[in-house]
Amino acid sequence: MAEQKIAKRKKIEATELMNKYMADYFLDLDRCSKTGEKKVAWCTSVGPAELLHSLGFAVHYPENHGAMLGATRMASDLIPFANALGYSPDICSYLTADIGSYVTNNTPLTKAYGIEKVPKPDVLVFDTNQCRDVQDWMAWYSRELNVPMMGVYAPKYPDEITETHVRSMAKQTEDLVKPLEEISGHKFDIDKLREILKLSRECTELWGKVLRTASSKPSPLTFFDGTIHMGPAVVLRGTTQAINYYKVLLKELEERVANSEGAVENEKFRLYWDGMPIWGRIRAHSELFASLNTCVMASTYCNSWIFSAFDENDPFNSMARAYAEIFIVRSEDSKEKYIKNMIDFYHIDGIIYHDSKTCPANSNCRYGMHKRIEMKTGVPSLVINGDLNDMRLVSDEQTKTNVEAFIEQLEENR
Ligand code: SF4
Repeated sequence: MAEQKIAKRKKIEATELMNKYMADYFLDLDRCSKTGEKKVAWCTSVGPAELLHSLGFAVHYPENHGAMLGATRMASDLIPFANALGYSPDICSYLTADIGSYVTNNTPLTKAYGIEKVPKPDVLVFDTNQCRDVQDWMAWYSRELNVPMMGVYAPKYPDEITETHVRSMAKQTEDLVKPLEEISGHKFDIDKLREILKLSRECTELWGKVLRTASSKPSPLTFFDGTIHMGPAVVLRGTTQAINYYKVLLKELEERVANSEGAVENEKFRLYWDGMPIWGRIRAHSELFASLNTCVMASTYCNSWIFSAFDENDPFNSMARAYAEIFIVRSEDSKEKYIKNMIDFYHIDGIIYHDSKTCPANSNCRYGMHKRIEMKTGVPSLVINGDLNDMRLVSDEQTKTNVEAFIEQLEENR
């Protein structure tokens, strides 16, 4: 097999600021949990975080911790501890890695920030819009730590989000207010919620603008950059820091666009990534594609944290709509339409579908979607088998060979 040539990838200068904000976030969370200054809520990543902030909770996102376990390559060693508790190796490897991390008292937060343990929750809040695993994940901690769990059940696979869907989710979210008031010790203030929703919308719309800079040729950022820089949109939405951060990042990327500076040297091919990242291989994959002068520049995954529907004038209904309409929970038809729009907007030459063994909810090639889109658009695709966190399910040689063959095929078809 040919040696992989050294790939030139451009460093994003704003990263330092992001690292500072992320460190502040984790240290504050740790402090709140130790001093009791704020109660701690654990929330699913596309759950009602704005409501929790408005009630004065410090919010921890277990999926963010799961991704850290993957990115630091700790996950594969921790998953078997959850398997030993009866949690299958085939279910979400965020979940199993996170439970393994808890039972072995081993977290990447220690090395990164000197934080000994993940802050314990006072309440666990979920939204099933992503998958059932998030609820089962919270349920494990609820039993283990004797902590209350509550959540919202989202409609499954809708084509369109109807008023009935919105009303149901809004009512379920409103029903959380009373028990959350009791746990937090704070009275619900609708004006506070309006203020946080406004900040959250602004943050995630800026994040959307950041991602859309990738429509330029060459693209100023890659999907692999996006997986790192989405951190503030996930854990800091609703704060001024996140808004500040994305303004700085956007400015840097717009300057790159103005100077025609690509994230990948001599960008030749532009690919779209569908499905979960392979956290333990972010750097390796970034280098692999860059070495082939190929920019994987857009993805469904990074786009999942844009909540333009948030409206401070209609807080509960707009939260319900924003959280009901996310890609992962939609019908096959609506997902196909979405990806076709992405192909046009980003001038895509090919699509990579990650078939992530432990995340069927976000592996969109299992029921033929890739073939249908290929037929309708003529844009070729490649399925990569792997996993978001369990590196025992990833074959680096096979991925490299398949990606190289795919790029060769794109070359031949030009
Ligand atoms: S969507 Fe996939 S990765 Fe995310 S929590 Fe559900 S199963 Fe895990």
